[in-house]
Amino acid sequence: MQETKTTAVDPVCGMTVDKDTAFEAERDGKTYYFCSELCRDEFLSETE
Ligand SMILES: [Zn+2]
Repeated sequence: MQETKTTAVDPVCGMTVDKDTAFEAERDGKTYYFCSELCRDEFLSETE
């Protein structure tokens, strides 16, 4: 799992995703990237 300028790690499933094609969501001013809408939805519905 590695983050670079063009890739990010999906916080839900741990997959490395390409920022150009990934699904995005923002939380607390930070942008997160996901492999699929499912992972994004799961992330957004999570409460900490
Ligand atoms: Zn995912």
